[in-house]
Amino acid sequence: MTDVIHLLPDHVANQIAAGEVVQRPASVIKELLENAIDAGSTSIKILVKEAGKTLVQVTDNGKGMSVTDARLCFERHATSKINSAEDLFSLKTKGFRGEALASIAAIAHVELKTRQEDDEVGSCIRIEGSEVISQEVCVTPVGTTICVKNLFYNIPARRNFLKSDTVELRHIIDEFQRVALAHPNIQFSLLHNGSELFQLPETNFRQRIVNIFGGKTNEKLVPVEEDTAIVKIHGFVGKPEFAKKGRGEQFFFVNDRFIKSPYLNHAVTAAFEGLLKDKAYPSYFLYLDVDPKSIDINIHPTKTEIKFDDEHTLYTILRSSIKHSLGQFNVAPVLDFDRDDTLDTPYEYSQKDVTPPKVEVDPNFNPFQNDRPTGHKSSSGYRRDRSGGGSWESLYNGLGRDNNGTVSGFDQVEFESDEVTGNLFGNIDDKEAGSTTFQLNKKYIVTTVKSGILVIDQQRAHMRILYEEMLKNITVTSAVSQQLLFPLELQFSVNEMELLKEIKDSLEQTGFIFSELRKDSVEITGIPTLISSSEVAILLEQLLSDLENEVPGTGFSQVDTLSKSLAKGMAVKSGTVLNSADQQNIVNSLFACKETSLSPYNKPIFITLTVDELDKKFM
Ligand code: ADP
Ligand code: MG
Repeated sequence: MTDVIHLLPDHVANQIAAGEVVQRPASVIKELLENAIDAGSTSIKILVKEAGKTLVQVTDNGKGMSVTDARLCFERHATSKINSAEDLFSLKTKGFRGEALASIAAIAHVELKTRQEDDEVGSCIRIEGSEVISQEVCVTPVGTTICVKNLFYNIPARRNFLKSDTVELRHIIDEFQRVALAHPNIQFSLLHNGSELFQLPETNFRQRIVNIFGGKTNEKLVPVEEDTAIVKIHGFVGKPEFAKKGRGEQFFFVNDRFIKSPYLNHAVTAAFEGLLKDKAYPSYFLYLDVDPKSIDINIHPTKTEIKFDDEHTLYTILRSSIKHSLGQFNVAPVLDFDRDDTLDTPYEYSQKDVTPPKVEVDPNFNPFQNDRPTGHKSSSGYRRDRSGGGSWESLYNGLGRDNNGTVSGFDQVEFESDEVTGNLFGNIDDKEAGSTTFQLNKKYIVTTVKSGILVIDQQRAHMRILYEEMLKNITVTSAVSQQLLFPLELQFSVNEMELLKEIKDSLEQTGFIFSELRKDSVEITGIPTLISSSEVAILLEQLLSDLENEVPGTGFSQVDTLSKSLAKGMAVKSGTVLNSADQQNIVNSLFACKETSLSPYNKPIFITLTVDELDKKFM
């Protein structure tokens, strides 16, 4: 028997590899740009002719190559970027496969000029179809210029497969933008057939986006920022009303590398749920920084697909941080987005001027008057009534008494509805509203909508309302305070006090006034209108412990935890009797929330029972 197996010659192997790495001129641009960035360049110039079919030239001012490296870089699996397979899990560079130059040189006429800073002269190499034509010394600036001519000259089938110049140029621009967006600190220019398509100066992320997509983009961007142990996210999403019909401006970057991820894309779309018109796609520019150990980039030759260790958590974090950003934007539609810097960090209020919280006192307030004072308006649109008027006993009407005869629902909740801003359920029949809610088991509010019945968990609903209220107070408009007649002094551990100092500003936005923060105690002179002074200690203790116990990795921003914790502490509990006005207000306020179906702790808030479902039960 004769042996039939033999090793392929290098140039054939290179051509085969090229089939994976280089699909079209745009792939060449991508690989050359990545190499230039890995070489530490601060300025990169690209020249393209006939959509890259005849010429792609990339010039960088990076560290260049030595004479030997200049020759070696065209060998397959020749790379300076990794030494062992383990290095794959601590990648800081874009390249690592050592294939790009070998592949490109196998299917084009390539000329490389390169010089390192310490060398007087540089090297110039010409290669055609993997064959070195010449290598000589040359005069060239520090950095590298690679010129790729006549792509696929030796593979006519692939060359014929190329699309029109317009289409191929579109691909080139796509790749260019992906790289340029990931590296605003590098200057880029792109020339096609002698005319300048992009000239991008060194700048910040936002300005880079604007420089690429035009001046109008600025006002469309909503900043996103989240910092957790698993992932740091920054970037922007487009306001929903600017969402496009096509999937144009959608960019994920993971550790500065553009990637495609249908799964994460779904997370973004989910965050936009209910905000977009049919078939509209939101734009986004999201930069995720993760531990290189937690991803695998080497699952596709073009390195645009990534495997994440903990994709599910990433999904959740991404979705909720975008939701918050959109929420921030929605609650404050009058914000001036041109003053971008102030908005780059929606939750970070470090730069905010310190202003004393507004204290609203009702001068006409008379505790012995029968009428409930109405001048005192809580920013949340409702508050607990503790006016102690002549008819105060009536507040307890209907309240259950527990075994030892004490009132169990300790605080009746009263609401003012004047600030309820909207009603997502336009079909709640306002006229009949008075008769369409009732309370079940001191726990659920049952209401009807045209299509059926809603059963709402009162505690979760109220938590959601307060949570959004808190977020808004902390980040947009601070809440009103009620001043305490006698300052409260509370003791905390030194650790807790440190934490308290950290969140003091945010807490003051929600209505707290701290007159003194000592080493292990605090003096409080004002509190949010929604709580009574007797609840303050419990609320703050709970808050501090929530913040301390924030499990790294599940963590959202501190402001988020704070809002959740306060909302949990202040929300009306299960077992509390609500009168029909309270019930209505919870329903209305809930459906004015950005998110209506899930509590801040991701539990369902209500269930629906449609008429159809009812009909079926009666069959
Ligand atoms: P990889 O980028 O995966 O290492 P490439 O084939 O793209 O593989 O490049 C091979 C090597 O050539 C790189 O590791 C790098 O050392 C060197 N190289 C390529 N382009 C440049 C450049 N523009 N400047 C400096 N060195 C470069
Ligand atoms: Mg490379």
